[in-house]
Amino acid sequence: MDISTGIKKLNDSEQLMSVFSHAMSVMHYDGATAAPEMSYIDRSKSLGLLSTYSYDILLNKENKENVRFLMDNRDLLSSSDKKRVELLQEKIDKIEGIPLEEYAEYRALISESEAVWKDSKAKNDFKSFMPYIDKIIDVKKKFAAYFDPDKHPYDFYLNEYERGSDRDFFDNFFETIKARLVPLISEISDCPAPDISFLQGNFPIYKQRRLSEVLMEFLNIDSSRCVLGETEHPFTAHLSRNDCRVTTHYYEDDFTSSFYSVIHECGHALYDMGIKEEYYNTVLGTGTSMGIHESQSRFYENIVGRSLPFCEYILPHLANLFPQFEKITPKEFYKAVNVAEPSLIRIRADELTYSMHILIRYELEKMLFENEISAVDLPELWNNKYREYLGIDVPNDSVGVLQDTHWGGGMFGYFPSYSLGSAYSAQIFHYLNKDLDFSALVSSGDIKPVYEWLRDRIYIFGSEKDPDEIIRICCNEEFNPNYYIDYLENKFRALYNI
Ligand SMILES: [Zn+2]
Repeated sequence: MDISTGIKKLNDSEQLMSVFSHAMSVMHYDGATAAPEMSYIDRSKSLGLLSTYSYDILLNKENKENVRFLMDNRDLLSSSDKKRVELLQEKIDKIEGIPLEEYAEYRALISESEAVWKDSKAKNDFKSFMPYIDKIIDVKKKFAAYFDPDKHPYDFYLNEYERGSDRDFFDNFFETIKARLVPLISEISDCPAPDISFLQGNFPIYKQRRLSEVLMEFLNIDSSRCVLGETEHPFTAHLSRNDCRVTTHYYEDDFTSSFYSVIHECGHALYDMGIKEEYYNTVLGTGTSMGIHESQSRFYENIVGRSLPFCEYILPHLANLFPQFEKITPKEFYKAVNVAEPSLIRIRADELTYSMHILIRYELEKMLFENEISAVDLPELWNNKYREYLGIDVPNDSVGVLQDTHWGGGMFGYFPSYSLGSAYSAQIFHYLNKDLDFSALVSSGDIKPVYEWLRDRIYIFGSEKDPDEIIRICCNEEFNPNYYIDYLENKFRALYNI
């Protein structure tokens, strides 16, 4: 076989896989939004069958041989085809690396553990959930050893979510955060809280829907390719090249929740929709990592959406919809949407304290994987760290160690990418701001040049470039966490006059 025949075969199989993935994504989205309750019975059967067929396209003998052939000749391929083949080979090796029976047992363990976690959280009963954490970690260690017995299992999982990262990388990152943020947070905790009373009130949902349209227009979301839906928890689903769905949740007494969710999710959508056209329907047609994806959602949510120029831009629109904002100044609004206050719950944390929640989870996960502790030690350590780093007491495990779904779902190594996303976005912003007059663009409401800057350096590449390469393309240097802390220091010292 020659190379061009191999590539043609590869195109055909990837095209077919993407058709299956398209169909399954539409069904998932429909299940999360419009479908009636009992439809899950039929849907899960159909999805099960579709995914079996889809796996077969990847794992059938002919496709595997073709990928192997291209892999052996990868130095003759274009750089994007080379990356494509490497990613596919890795995917095949990962699926085949775990004995089928063990994988099925693991899936069963996870679905039981997720149900137990839910119940434990509702009843504030850590003891019932505790054995699952130890069991899951044992299995995860075994699985990691199948792929690379010489690699530390936690390094293996960190790399799964953020290619190229390991404990050394994150130790350096979190040590920087800890050294500089803990004192700053403690200093700010002693400052008087700004007035946020005008953020309270009644915000009719039909008006909030109008506000979402204003935001999506500002963000240059192509409404012929992306629509907004409503779900319990906001998310973004990229169903196919020309079909992206973002969702939000409206609360009548708090418009800021949906307001910032829409901006955040649109950041994900812009990335997904900006990938080079020929990469769609291939393994390159998604964002390159969790961290880079979060860097984009957080860039729009925090660096744009919680900036003074944006407050200047949006306030007249807000006042149009909600008269209580007529007498509020941009500065007052800016202060109110940037209140920094240590809190118990990660997903409600502000921009300044957010990474402390992640730091705590990282330190605990690392200790679990290094056999320094086991699940029984978690609640006490969790509470001690919340006191030490955030200065708050955790009243019970439901709002403490049991608050997140990740551990019950076996997602160890995932949390750090959230913080990393914020840190990436601050470094990227530093360089974007050198090329563009960010403040003027945002306050005028025309951020197209900002979008184009990001698109040309990040979005178009999809998964062709690894996260470290993306940072180098944007910044011409390696990742450096100090940009993130500098950004937070400058912003919050000015906000709180300290
Ligand atoms: Zn996100």
